[in-house]
Amino acid sequence: MTLPFDVAAVRADFPILETEIDGQPLVYLDSGATSQKPRAVLDAEREFLERANSAVHRGAHTLAADATELFEDARITVAEFVGAEPEQLVWTSGATGGLNLIAGSLGYAGRLGEGDEIVVTEAEHHANLIPWQELAARTGARLRHIPVLDDGMLDMHAAADLIGERTKVVAFPHVSNVLGIVNPVAKLVTLARGVGALTVLDACQSAPHLALDLPASGVDLAVFSGHKIYGPYGIGALWGRDEVLEALPPFTTGGSMITTVSLDKAEYLPPPQRFEAGTQPVSQAVALAAAVRWLGGHDLDAARAHEALLETRMREGLRSIDGIRLLGDTDAAERIALQAFAVDGVHAHDVGQFLDSRGVAVRVGHHCAQPLHRRFGLTASVRASAAIHTTEEEIDTFLDAVSGVRGFFGVGASTAGARA
Ligand code: PMP
Repeated sequence: MTLPFDVAAVRADFPILETEIDGQPLVYLDSGATSQKPRAVLDAEREFLERANSAVHRGAHTLAADATELFEDARITVAEFVGAEPEQLVWTSGATGGLNLIAGSLGYAGRLGEGDEIVVTEAEHHANLIPWQELAARTGARLRHIPVLDDGMLDMHAAADLIGERTKVVAFPHVSNVLGIVNPVAKLVTLARGVGALTVLDACQSAPHLALDLPASGVDLAVFSGHKIYGPYGIGALWGRDEVLEALPPFTTGGSMITTVSLDKAEYLPPPQRFEAGTQPVSQAVALAAAVRWLGGHDLDAARAHEALLETRMREGLRSIDGIRLLGDTDAAERIALQAFAVDGVHAHDVGQFLDSRGVAVRVGHHCAQPLHRRFGLTASVRASAAIHTTEEEIDTFLDAVSGVRGFFGVGASTAGARA
């Protein structure tokens, strides 16, 4: 059943939003790091553990059959959420697990060597950078990057020059976890396909906010994390085209991914089980499916329109405060409601603590994107990221608090009160 979008009703689903920080209402603007969990997700995980908990795919008993059915139903639900077939969806521990699986498996397969190139962007989360660094180091391949322009957009002219006949992999974020900008997936896919390179999409930051149709996107492989889409920790998914998954060897091996094993060798199950060695995060998969169902129970067009309003309010509000420098400040791209910024003369950690004293939770640091911060001459920034439950009033509370930062720390003139 689809319900009309109603932020108050959405908020009522999140027990944690009743929290107070030093007597002030919590304003949670750190969903880019991890989302809060609606009651439906908490209930689903607990109910599974209370009523159906059992090892999947192996027991002959009723509970095991129930658990297996719930686990595989979860796969169907989460696959549908990204427009995919269940056999194309591999459970992982998260996006990091998925990216390591892809890079590691390509390495095992001997698909890269001297003279080959892997192309990433300057805007990677370390999870979509270090696995490729490791793969390059182990295979002799060269790691190259598409630069980020001053406004945060990818330099697509450079991309067109970089992606050539040596390129074997092009890996990039759908949305940067620092810039909030939606990258031009179709253009990058066209460049990569033109040279027969594999494309890997890090959909961590887009999955909670944008409609995803991974097969239609043109990419070959994609990953996302459950805990960022209102689901639990410890689970994520890797999606791949049939023929791409089929051609990849397992990265981790062990129980549950084999057909026959002798003392000398093993035969493997087809995807997705080939990539799911060992005991799986079963209750987490069930709860992730509950998260996806919960999200899908809302009018997502209306939710996205609401988040777009928050995005504009947040970015324009920050722009109007003296001494604030936005990372990725452009109107030329589609964006999510996530914005990193630096406050002139005040360290990001001090800003974070000051905002916390007003009940506002933001992320501070390099957000696992050191090269991108270096590119902007920074070691750290403050990042505010909204979610489906964020209200315009919360954005205003955040902006008012940011307005007071420099005055509080005795830097420049305070603009507190400048905002109506
Ligand atoms: N990629 C991006 C863009 C991210 O924002 C994150 C999480 N911050 C990751 C990858 C890694 O996700 P996880 O830690 O859930 O594996």
